[in-house]
Amino acid sequence: MSAILALAAMFATPECLSQRLCAQESASPRAVGAALPPGFSRVSGTHLDLITDLPLDDDLRELPAVFDAAMAGWCDVFEIPPANVASWRVEAYVMRDRQRFLAAGFLPKEIAHFINGFQLGDRLWVNEQPSVYYRRHLLLHEGTHWIMSRKFGGLGPPWLAEGMAEWLGTHRWDGQHLEMGVIPTNSDEVPYWGRTKTIQEQLSQGVAPSLETILRYSNTAHQQQDAYVWSWAAVVFLKHHPDTAALFSQLLQQPWHGSDASNRWLFTHLRSSWPRIRQQWQVTLSDLDYGFDPQHGLLELSPKLRPLRDQQTLVVRATDGWQASGFAVAAGAHLKITATGEYSVGSEPKPWKCTPAGVQLEYYRGIPLGRLLMSTASTLQHEPDFARPLKIQQVGDGGEFTITQGGELLFRINESIGGLADNSGTLEVTISP
Ligand SMILES: [Zn+2]
Repeated sequence: MSAILALAAMFATPECLSQRLCAQESASPRAVGAALPPGFSRVSGTHLDLITDLPLDDDLRELPAVFDAAMAGWCDVFEIPPANVASWRVEAYVMRDRQRFLAAGFLPKEIAHFINGFQLGDRLWVNEQPSVYYRRHLLLHEGTHWIMSRKFGGLGPPWLAEGMAEWLGTHRWDGQHLEMGVIPTNSDEVPYWGRTKTIQEQLSQGVAPSLETILRYSNTAHQQQDAYVWSWAAVVFLKHHPDTAALFSQLLQQPWHGSDASNRWLFTHLRSSWPRIRQQWQVTLSDLDYGFDPQHGLLELSPKLRPLRDQQTLVVRATDGWQASGFAVAAGAHLKITATGEYSVGSEPKPWKCTPAGVQLEYYRGIPLGRLLMSTASTLQHEPDFARPLKIQQVGDGGEFTITQGGELLFRINESIGGLADNSGTLEVTISP
């Protein structure tokens, strides 16, 4: 990791959970409107009083409006009637010089050693960040902890507390409207965020965790920066995948009696689905990058498979990620495949026509854009040590292929998930064993 990247990773660590768990629950805000010591300024909104030692500028002045907009988003996600939160109010500190906050009594010395942000009772602390985006991100991250602790009387399992805080902290703000829970389209949008880069690096190094590993994170796991990345990824997957979305929504409505109970509830309800979920998690990780679109990128393995005994013709959509064929093939099987069709892999400035061989002028991950790809995936009866990417074969317009790993045949065209939405058309793929 370069020095610049290491710096970015350090700043991008809103560590807070492990310390909060051992801090005492005794933080009540100061009286609203109380006079401030010299060198501090205050800006206020409906739900936020923000005290800072930074010179007030437009970005700081609008944070109460950001926070008030976030209240509507939090109420929606956690199904809290807005009338119930009318009087909920938090005091937040955006700190340049921590010592001044300690000396002024704004920061209890028992919790003063956190790196980036902290929440305790109705108070939040955010260290000044290298970007305006990341300052807001941390405020929303800590604000999500505040909402969850108020709604549930606790934070829930570590992966869920930090995963939800990162999911809802990742946002777009145009000065008036706040969109929470976004997947950024590029790194310019979210300076110092770095989530997808870590995922792709660890996946290629063979050290990406299984979903179960993340769900079992302990209270100290988030001392490591990558635990935030993986908790975020677990929330993205569980919240959107058709096999888990309804259950995840139900989880957020459960009364919580400690993190073990809510995790036990989730594991119990997923028991019969784990073999499918393990593989679907692995496949999702390969595609989880800037611009990832859960509507187009989540593989659903077929509930029932047929052996491929004779020639079959399949339709592959140019608009979706991996598509399950419903046919199982064994390792070592030889297949003859032909693919035809004309589809488009972009709409700007005009429809960009493509055939199964792909567009030779543009590449994605070293393969021509739009080229037909094939893989196989099987359910995993046992938890793998680490998540593994799929083995991919380039089919193009056809040829003869040997299957190296048995499982359900999958097809897609070669393009990032974020680039699929403006595609159109289909391919016809004929397979003979
Ligand atoms: Zn946190």
